[in-house]
Amino acid sequence: RPVVAVVGRPNVGKSTLVNRILGRREAVVQDTPGVTRDRVSYDAEWAGHEFVLVDTGGWASDATGMAAQIAEQAEIAIQLADAVLFVVDATVGTTDEDEAVVQVLRRSRKPVVLAANKVDDQRAEADAATMWNLGLGEPWPVSALHGRGTGDMLDALLAVLPSSDALRPVEVGGPRRVAIVGKPNVGKSSLLNKLAGANRSVVSDVSGTTVDPVDELVSIGGQEYRLIDTAGIRKRVKEASGSEYYAWLRTQAAIERAECCVVVIDASEPVAEQDLKILSQVEQAGKAMVIAYNKWDLTDEERRRYLDREIERDLNAWAWAPSVNISALTGRNVDRLSKAIELSLRGWETRVTTGQLNSFLGRVVAAHPHPVRGGKQPRILFGTQAHTAPPTFALFTSGQMDPQYVRFIERRLREEFGFTGSPIHIEVRARA
Ligand code: GDP
Repeated sequence: RPVVAVVGRPNVGKSTLVNRILGRREAVVQDTPGVTRDRVSYDAEWAGHEFVLVDTGGWASDATGMAAQIAEQAEIAIQLADAVLFVVDATVGTTDEDEAVVQVLRRSRKPVVLAANKVDDQRAEADAATMWNLGLGEPWPVSALHGRGTGDMLDALLAVLPSSDALRPVEVGGPRRVAIVGKPNVGKSSLLNKLAGANRSVVSDVSGTTVDPVDELVSIGGQEYRLIDTAGIRKRVKEASGSEYYAWLRTQAAIERAECCVVVIDASEPVAEQDLKILSQVEQAGKAMVIAYNKWDLTDEERRRYLDREIERDLNAWAWAPSVNISALTGRNVDRLSKAIELSLRGWETRVTTGQLNSFLGRVVAAHPHPVRGGKQPRILFGTQAHTAPPTFALFTSGQMDPQYVRFIERRLREEFGFTGSPIHIEVRARA
């Protein structure tokens, strides 16, 4: 699906507009300075066309360098999006911050739709017209709050979006898309440098834009991969406020674009909460996953024994992910990442036939029926694998299932069919 980045300075109404487009089920937090969101991308639909909305509004902001921060936000969004929805406040007019974004937008040559927000009535439409001076084409007068004009704006957006078919040749086929993610200083850029080594080639930007190339082709163990957002991995994070948010936004976006994520963890240090966060981010995104324990050269017997205990205690939920102990510094085992990645991708794309699945479910349920609840025993009537990548199962049942029982089914599915390196999604559809 095409990706649309919603860009604009604080308080222009980005979140409200996102809510409006989504027809609001999941509430997006208001544009509060200092608030970092857990989520940035949402599945949206207009006139039967699906796209992904990325709300870039959640930075931690302070007064210093606002224009620069916004330009950076725009730059990230542009690198990752197929089109940009640029939101300005028609009641305020254009500001220096808006201009900073426009510069970045112009250079990128990505399609832009300009939303002039807070046009709550006919009279305010004159305000929107002044936005022609941004040089981004027609300003669409909208009221995110009341919904006024958003239909026309969305039509304009659809008109500039590449069709899903057009995206396919770039995104599917060719080298597998792999993201290297992890908290700062675990050795991501060292790993990238090791991998890129001599036979380094930059993925030329398809549309011939002037923005930095974001992906690189590298060879791991003789297999070619497309590494997502290498510009982001290389980037030295500045001390500027909000940089943590940008790092997180980039990580999230890289995960979204990848098929397989290599989560790098520093084996020489205690496992941190941020490591666990990133693991669950990958799992939630439904991507194939490999864990790389880096800086193995710095570990001694004692540290390794302790790491084993940490893994057992804290990383048990991701025991399905294959792991490799590496040293980005010496190159130890780095080639083995390839085997692990291939293994995970295979698990991620495994398909179980409906026949196999139901005979398996029949056996499991006969041996371990769901506990009786309120005098009733919910039963699994039928199951089918609705999707691969990640494996997603729909279970049709005669009543609500305990989450614990669903987890039990998941464990048994893994034992029976593999799915190494992949999250599994199970949707229970209870008959009323
Ligand atoms: P990033 O923030 O995840 O990209 O981490 P860097 O690649 O910048 O690495 C952070 C620090 O760890 C640097 O000083 C690296 O030289 C060091 N480092 C990275 N990988 C290894 C490794 O395998 N062994 C050792 N000893 N040091 C490493």
